[in-house]
Amino acid sequence: MSTKEYSVTVTPDSTEEQFTASTCQCRECTLMHLAQIEWDTFTPRTHLQRGMKEVVARIEARAKTAASH
Ligand SMILES: [Zn+2]
Repeated sequence: MSTKEYSVTVTPDSTEEQFTASTCQCRECTLMHLAQIEWDTFTPRTHLQRGMKEVVARIEARAKTAASH
């Protein structure tokens, strides 16, 4: 099992990563959206920051599978 790492060089026009939950304004989706924007410009420099990215990636993966969103 490999650790899913977020590529900061990925282009936003990738159809695979399209955000269709723009109408949902619940806390989770809002945080997710903010994290996405922030993470796009964020480069982890320390082990702690890498760990943070991993946690967010996990939360994102969970939110994507949640049908209620
Ligand atoms: Zn939501």
